Amino acid sequence: MTQFRFSSAAALIALAPFAVQAQIEGAQISSDALVSEPTVVECTLTDGSAASCLEITVKYQPDDLEIGPFCPATLEDEGGIWDWDGDEAGLYRVDGEFLKMLDEMGYHFYDEDGTVHVFDIRVEGPTEANECISGSVDEAVEMTMLIPTTPQMADAPVSLGTVAKIGMSLSGVPIFADAPSVLDTGHMPALDVCAGHVDPGGWYHYHGTASDLDTVYEHNNVEGSCANAVQDAKAQFGYAFDGFAIMGSLEHDGSVPRDLDECGGHMDGDTYHYHSTGEFPNLPTCLVGLQAEDNFNTTAAAGIGAAGGPGGGQGGGRPDFEAIASDLGIDAQLLMQTMQDAGGPNADLAAVAANLGVDEADLRAALPQRP
Ligand SMILES: [Zn+2]
Ligand SMILES: [Zn+2]
Repeated sequence: MTQFRFSSAAALIALAPFAVQAQIEGAQISSDALVSEPTVVECTLTDGSAASCLEITVKYQPDDLEIGPFCPATLEDEGGIWDWDGDEAGLYRVDGEFLKMLDEMGYHFYDEDGTVHVFDIRVEGPTEANECISGSVDEAVEMTMLIPTTPQMADAPVSLGTVAKIGMSLSGVPIFADAPSVLDTGHMPALDVCAGHVDPGGWYHYHGTASDLDTVYEHNNVEGSCANAVQDAKAQFGYAFDGFAIMGSLEHDGSVPRDLDECGGHMDGDTYHYHSTGEFPNLPTCLVGLQAEDNFNTTAAAGIGAAGGPGGGQGGGRPDFEAIASDLGIDAQLLMQTMQDAGGPNADLAAVAANLGVDEADLRAALPQRP
């Protein structure tokens, strides 16, 4: 019996590389996440060419996904993780030890009695210079994504700035590049131990390859274990927005990937895929393929992909932050968050300009005129 089990397992492992889908198919996406069956639709790629894309609409988070904790309530509690980019840079658990280290560097995230400053970015702004951000979910929100069904290489890789759209996990959770830095905003959008958190729009997303975080924790000596994504360095995590697969840090057969390019991917037979790594954020650093235009939209009132917000459609009463940010040569999400933090439409523009390191007159000229 034991012998039989062993041989069937071996057979499965031997077959695994051929079971990988080179192209995204609706059946691969977890039904726990889907609002409706994914459908193939016509789409336009960023080079202007017509293509077909899988259109996937998912819930604010998959059913029964355990998320959080993000921020600890006090110095005695343990929150999630944060990729600190100041002095003593590295990946940390968000706990008393870490917050005390930041305190010595001038970032005061807690009161004298040890209560951590936390605010819910979906419903309120911060009241202190340094607060931990903990967004609450909005169960009504849906996200619609477009991923090309036949990936095509771009002329040059597309780099990924702060909160750039990377892709979607097979479990149906969007994946983004680095969350905004504490050094830029003063606030910490803490991640849970699965490298996810809730957008100001009320939906959960990842900032790392959630299915291969144990590798990162071991490599960086960080105590943590992600439970909402099965840990498997040999498994496929998801698809990038160019349609190429995102794999764990190992090949399906357990071997170490070789000849990775600047984006963290390589050709495997006649198709391309990305690999995660042992370093956080363990995601592709650029995308080699063409993406669909307008490939991420939400029904949320704010946040990434909301109508009129960064990455969203046109219209609506909100400023087009993506266009304004590109005028100013800064990141759209950072601009939006800094404006929100400073009071939204009534923000002190001198302070916002100083925070962003741009000229106040340029900022005023780029923003819609106030009535
Ligand atoms: Zn985020
Ligand atoms: Zn590979």
